[in-house]
Amino acid sequence: MRIVDIMDFAAIEKKWQDRWEKEHAFEPDLDPAKKKFFITFPYPYVNGAPHVGHAYSSLRTDAYARFKRMRGFNVLYPQGFHATGEPILGVIERLRKNDQSQIQTLKQFGATDEDIKKFKESPEYLVNFWIAEWKKAQKAAGFSIDWRRSFVTTTLTPQYSRFIEWQYNTLKKQGYVVQGTHPVIWCPHDQSPTGDHDRLEGEGESPVEYTAIKFRLGDAFLACATLRPETVFGVTNIWINPQGDYVKAVVNGEKWIISRDAAAKLADQLKKVKIESHVNPADLLGKRAVHPLDNRQMPILPAGFVDTGIATGVVMSVPSHAPFDWAGILDLVNSDLERYGVTKAELEPVVLIKTEGLGETPAVAMVKNMGILSSSEKAKLEEATSQIYKKEYHKGMLNKNCGKYAGMTVAEAKDKIIEELMGIGVADAVWDCVGVVCRCTTKCHVKILENQWFLKFSDETWKGKVRKMLNGMKIYPEEARQNFENTIEWLKDKACTRRGGLGTPLPWDRSWIVETLSDSTIYMAYYTIARIINERKIPADVLTDEAFDYIFLGRGGARNKDMEEMRKEFEYFYPVDLRNSGKDLTQNHLTFYLFHHAAMWPEDKWPRAISVNGFVNVEGEKMSKSRGNIIPLKDMAEQFGADMVRLNMVTAAQGLDDADWRSENVKGLRSRLEMIYELCRDIKKAKRGTKTSLDMYLENKIRKESSDAIGAYEELRFRDAGTHALFETTNALKWYIRRAGGIDNANPDTLSESLMRAVKTLAPMAPHISEEMWTMLGGRGFAAFQPLAEEPYDDSYESTEKLIQKVTEDIEEIKKLAGEKKNARIYVAEEWKFAALAKLLQGAEPAAVIRELAAMRREKGKEISSFVNSAKTRKREAIARELQMKALSEASAFISAQTGIGIAVEEAAGQNQKANAAAPDKPGIFLE
Ligand SMILES: [Zn+2]
Repeated sequence: MRIVDIMDFAAIEKKWQDRWEKEHAFEPDLDPAKKKFFITFPYPYVNGAPHVGHAYSSLRTDAYARFKRMRGFNVLYPQGFHATGEPILGVIERLRKNDQSQIQTLKQFGATDEDIKKFKESPEYLVNFWIAEWKKAQKAAGFSIDWRRSFVTTTLTPQYSRFIEWQYNTLKKQGYVVQGTHPVIWCPHDQSPTGDHDRLEGEGESPVEYTAIKFRLGDAFLACATLRPETVFGVTNIWINPQGDYVKAVVNGEKWIISRDAAAKLADQLKKVKIESHVNPADLLGKRAVHPLDNRQMPILPAGFVDTGIATGVVMSVPSHAPFDWAGILDLVNSDLERYGVTKAELEPVVLIKTEGLGETPAVAMVKNMGILSSSEKAKLEEATSQIYKKEYHKGMLNKNCGKYAGMTVAEAKDKIIEELMGIGVADAVWDCVGVVCRCTTKCHVKILENQWFLKFSDETWKGKVRKMLNGMKIYPEEARQNFENTIEWLKDKACTRRGGLGTPLPWDRSWIVETLSDSTIYMAYYTIARIINERKIPADVLTDEAFDYIFLGRGGARNKDMEEMRKEFEYFYPVDLRNSGKDLTQNHLTFYLFHHAAMWPEDKWPRAISVNGFVNVEGEKMSKSRGNIIPLKDMAEQFGADMVRLNMVTAAQGLDDADWRSENVKGLRSRLEMIYELCRDIKKAKRGTKTSLDMYLENKIRKESSDAIGAYEELRFRDAGTHALFETTNALKWYIRRAGGIDNANPDTLSESLMRAVKTLAPMAPHISEEMWTMLGGRGFAAFQPLAEEPYDDSYESTEKLIQKVTEDIEEIKKLAGEKKNARIYVAEEWKFAALAKLLQGAEPAAVIRELAAMRREKGKEISSFVNSAKTRKREAIARELQMKALSEASAFISAQTGIGIAVEEAAGQNQKANAAAPDKPGIFLE
């Protein structure tokens, strides 16, 4: 806790935050003389305050913005807020219902009873409450955001709504927004499509098409839903859940036996459905339904693993290829199969597909090998199912049991079989999705919408442009590129509107609202003009499509000065140079961002780079409400200090690895910062006028670490940047002071230059304390705007320091063996040994080197050949002889103080055996 005594974090941070604000430090304007850098982070959703989970991505963004400023760029780093969709109205609804947990959450963040009353009446009030919380917390954490360009989405900012209308009008003209019939994931409560960000669970899930194959039972059909219709030839029985709620329903004029849930879903899939009666599962068990292709009698049997919530709730059993089915049969064989009048022989697996490496009856073998004993071992069975399917789909060949499909691969036969079954009227398509829950907590299903508006992401021309865009972009880390490539390939048409919630109405069909992932794809362009709109209060109706066409596309002419200025700001700041985000947004938001830019702008306005990072864990655990470890960012800054939070967070990981917030790490980081701070404070004490190799060491070493940190910063490798900027740097400073014999004996110029460089290098990650130290060192202006550049350095001085350390240790060792001694002589090897080593390293033949040297020094013939033979395998150059002499001589007082004996440094010249043994990389040591 010592740092609190010398560094009052809270006071230092407040001081610099106020100065930055007062001097408008981070409010860039158009400056043609300077290169711009435009960086963004996805605007946060305003239904809560920032917490540890937001901290990692957002602080990386801020640190990078700060780094780029120090690299000489005019950096634009704005931030808006997102309010589109259901969540805000959801909170209001809960407040109106007097939901105590919702009220408590709001109170925790400082909402008063009066506030809560107002929340119930006005979404705008609620939105502004959270925006204020975000700004407060981000200011306290030292974010360098240009707040003049802030806004909130939806009609709460009518000018932004106009911008979205312009975007969608433009896309529609290009044919990229189309109306059509498509399956979408649907919330029956909201009566609206449920986009990825409208979901509590199931982000990334898409509608899945099942084939319902109809098995006749009396006047009705059991509609068995399957993802593997090609296995229809191997059905041995039909499964229903004995506890399930089943109905007989008229579906498009036919009677189907399906689950009650299924009846409700099918009504949303362009089918006419009328429930006729309830069906008791017990009445079905043991009965036999007729196979639609070969008229075999298939017994109906019970299985607990059948989920009536998925597809039709009735499934066909194919024990040869489906591990669940084989496990279900084993369950019955081991209990009461005969109760249903069925023998084990009837359920013998029928093999259909031959796949190399899977054996005769794959499911049977897999169940046995994995030690599965019952159908209740769900996780293992799912794993087995997926393994078999993967192999069979790509390599499986249908056998003679599959009639005319024999000889085809699964991949070839699948669609043909579906076509045949549908063609003869024994199958139908049924859509579903698994595990998707809307934010309103309702379970979602698939609805086929006839008049929905879609973004035509399947369009090949559009995809082609996006591929080209991605090729020209930098992706950090590079390994994340593949995820983008894959997403571009599989992305299909996507619903872009919904019915309820906050948002911008679709301009040509105002019964729809542009949904949350669709109104947040090009808003970065809006930042470039938001300052002018906000400051001059430009009304929305002035911002017509024609006005936006001019501002963003240069079409037509400017009709007034404001528009002309907006056009100039856009031209100057666009495109986005880096967008940084969590990796979870790759498959939706970030890829949509690419598509929309490809559609709206020519290549010179396309995004330049994206960086993605991992998730955040807290003290080694996943973040979750139930663990209570979602720490508000404001609390973190208050408890540890903003700079400590920043340093600890951004250096917690790099690449795609997840970051782990560990409070205990703060201590170590703090003591290192404290050490630099103390040197800045005490630098006046440094008085040594001469410069020695030790000073050269420090100057070069700090240049090296700073250059390495710059290289790491450039690629957003903040963990590496921290290693160089803080760890290596403090280690070097510590060694320097120790070697000098205390700060009084340090060279003030060396110390000042090195500390200034070290402080600048730390500034992107620990900006407040860096400003403070920069001022203490006599620096002018903000540290945040000092140029940070790589400097050439000579690392031979690092080698001399290592040599000094090694020699000191060696003397200690020899002392232990030799007992009480008064003096040590250190012999730097003879000149010819350096020459020999240099020749060997240049690739000269050892024999030739020996001949050449011996010609000049006949008396040393034997010594020369033995040295060359021992040196011929060395790979590294030695420190130059003069430098060794100089550095060791200068360090003799240090070595003497460390070892407690007198030190003399001499050139080796045959004084004794130790002198003769001295090598270029290992001075001789003689104790007397
Ligand atoms: Zn819902």
